Amino acid sequence: MNIVTLKPSKEKSLLRRHPWVYANAIDRVEGKPAPGATVIVRAADGRFLGRAAYSPHSQIRARVWSFDENEPIDHAFFKRRVQRAVADRRAMVSGTGAVRLIFGEADGLPGLIVDYYIEDGGDGRGQLVCQFMAAGVEAWKDAIVAALTSATGCPNVYERSDVSIREKEGLEQITGLLAGDEPPATIITSENGVRYHVDVRNGHKTGFYVDQRDNRALVQTYAREREVLNCFCYTGGFSLAAMKGGAKRVVSIDSSGEALATAQKNVEANGFDAALAAWLDADAFKTLRRLHDEGERFDLVVLDPPKFAASREHVDRAARAYKDINLTGFKLLRPGGLLFTYSCSGAIDSALFQKIVAGAAADARVDARILKRLGAGVDHPLLTAFPEGEYLKGLLLQIA
Ligand code: SAH
Repeated sequence: MNIVTLKPSKEKSLLRRHPWVYANAIDRVEGKPAPGATVIVRAADGRFLGRAAYSPHSQIRARVWSFDENEPIDHAFFKRRVQRAVADRRAMVSGTGAVRLIFGEADGLPGLIVDYYIEDGGDGRGQLVCQFMAAGVEAWKDAIVAALTSATGCPNVYERSDVSIREKEGLEQITGLLAGDEPPATIITSENGVRYHVDVRNGHKTGFYVDQRDNRALVQTYAREREVLNCFCYTGGFSLAAMKGGAKRVVSIDSSGEALATAQKNVEANGFDAALAAWLDADAFKTLRRLHDEGERFDLVVLDPPKFAASREHVDRAARAYKDINLTGFKLLRPGGLLFTYSCSGAIDSALFQKIVAGAAADARVDARILKRLGAGVDHPLLTAFPEGEYLKGLLLQIA
């Protein structure tokens, strides 16, 4: 049997049901657990703490599957966890064909992300897209795929484990078909009445930023008769939502030409007036400044940049980048204008993010009021024992 025994007093976080065991908390390892193998984690005094997946190459040396001494880790375990996650989403999420079915630690499946796309007007079977980001879920891939197809009735599973974090687990990046048919070039899914092309093979992440659903809906609500600037627009998520909401004009910026081409296809797929939208293939930092210098002003600005802080070491540099875009974002707003601003850097918590935005407002010499704090949708739950799971945070602000 594989047993991991912790150093004295290192059991505290596990007793609080935090699922990670760091390498430096471990006193000794008995047996020769292979990557992803199940180990029993014990406190220094020998008491049972949990069953976990061993990851010999990672600083997160083990991730707990279960804190229940009577729960074995087998095919039935994965079937239960996946079924529960799918049932929760069925009960909680509606009005969309793009859902996060599994959100890692929050669903008791550390290191696993699964998104589900259903074709608008299709046969309803859809496409599952997975990211396996830890040795444990990698080792149980077949069991997880079987559980997913059985819980959803969807036979099509595609893998997008092309994420650098796998290297920390000693795993290579990999993409490809796991079950069913090859995905089509794009799946047209619909969210809050807006149709989007999703390219699960080549798009970012699993093809679409499912996490921003509620925030796109909010923009839709406030876009009527407004001039909108959507910065870091990707395939036009917020831009399309604004057009659906009746925006007067939408200017969108992204440095990915491919994403912008899809965004324009999305305008067509919805039958919106293409003349209302301008798509700028450019660097956001420079373009925001240029628009400001040219005297452009907007009523609603969205800033949804990529993760600026990959880890804690990058927080200072990232903070300056967030401040830079928010400063110009504020300056581009007309009086009474709305700013939707986000950070998806896990290393920047919501208090720090608010401080950065406050600094930007001060430098822009505007009075900014927070109307609402924003985050990911209910299909991205946050485990109370695992605050690290919170990555997307946002603010809806209005300037005087
Ligand atoms: N808001 C989008 C998701 C944004 S993801 C949605 O709802 O779908 C972040 C986007 O920023 C990516 O599309 C990426 O291509 C773009 N990006 C990254 N760096 C950039 C830069 N310096 N200038 C402009 N766009 C950038």
